[in-house]
Amino acid sequence: MPVRVRFAPSPTGSLHLGNALTAVANRAFADARGGVLVLRIDDTDPRRVVEGGEEAILADLRWLGIAWEEGPVRQSERSTVYEEALARALEHGATRDDDGAVRLGRTTIARPDGTATYQLASVVDDLDLGITHVIRGSDHRPNLAVQQEIARALGGELPEVIHHGLLLGADGKKLSKRHGHTAVAELRADGIPSAAVRAYLKELGLPTHDVQLDASRLRRFAIDAIAAMSDEELAAAAAAPVSLAPALRGARDLVEARSFAEQILDPAPSALDAAAHPTLERFAELRAGFADPLTEADARSIVRELKAVGGDLRALRLALTGHHRGPELWTVVAALPAPEAERRIVVAGRG
Ligand code: GLU
Repeated sequence: MPVRVRFAPSPTGSLHLGNALTAVANRAFADARGGVLVLRIDDTDPRRVVEGGEEAILADLRWLGIAWEEGPVRQSERSTVYEEALARALEHGATRDDDGAVRLGRTTIARPDGTATYQLASVVDDLDLGITHVIRGSDHRPNLAVQQEIARALGGELPEVIHHGLLLGADGKKLSKRHGHTAVAELRADGIPSAAVRAYLKELGLPTHDVQLDASRLRRFAIDAIAAMSDEELAAAAAAPVSLAPALRGARDLVEARSFAEQILDPAPSALDAAAHPTLERFAELRAGFADPLTEADARSIVRELKAVGGDLRALRLALTGHHRGPELWTVVAALPAPEAERRIVVAGRG
């Protein structure tokens, strides 16, 4: 039987990393078996529907590179399927309360207004969409017996269910705002490459126990992901010309890469005091000895020679970029055409 899994987020907004782990795990499970991933949006509970929430999830999945073959299947569009199922459940042991709600055993499967609860809708969909394996967080473990009971009342059998351990904050508590940036959209805004988030979640796989979010491991993957990018990819990610790629290489994330590009393209003007003047003059002389464009070897040798004669490299950096910290100095020297380098030296020398 071909494998069919589903990822079923509630549309509450950008996925937190714990949900993204479930998505990655489902995709990996399907890929390993030539299977299909169905994207289902659990939007029957009005308290868990946020305006723009579905769009945010789709954007997260696309950014993460997690494709789905079917869907999004929205539960809000399937009320007739649930009504039919409810009728069947009522014939097989479900009972209606005085207020109109329907229960099977202790579980409410329809609200007084007749709409299906998550428990009913989820089981109906898992059966109806031919899901072969449910892979989800262990916070849903208490739903297993309930959902198996509902499936049987509907004349079916719940697919095999695999519960994975949850991703918790470093303090061992459920991921929440308190833990800082743990939503996919936030990591993206922080300049963590999608490949890094994916690699981190892939490494976790299907944890049997809860695991604590390891921010430094994620940061490590960000550095690896930047190293693995081509010059073109890195420049595009930093919205910089590809000629600046060498300067962006030292960045630990894409926000930093963008700030490195800005230092070169649009520096904050800085005027240095007289102590820096000999360094600036010496640099100008050295730079004048090379035609544009500078090769890496030329740029490195200018910096090396300046250092050898006791030049103040920190002053040069400040003069060229307006910042104390930034890309490797030779990459800045290499990126600036002679007239622009000279202009910055003149401005800085006016201090
Ligand atoms: N909408 C549920 C959630 O986001 C899905 C649960 C399930 O996978 O059955 O937790």
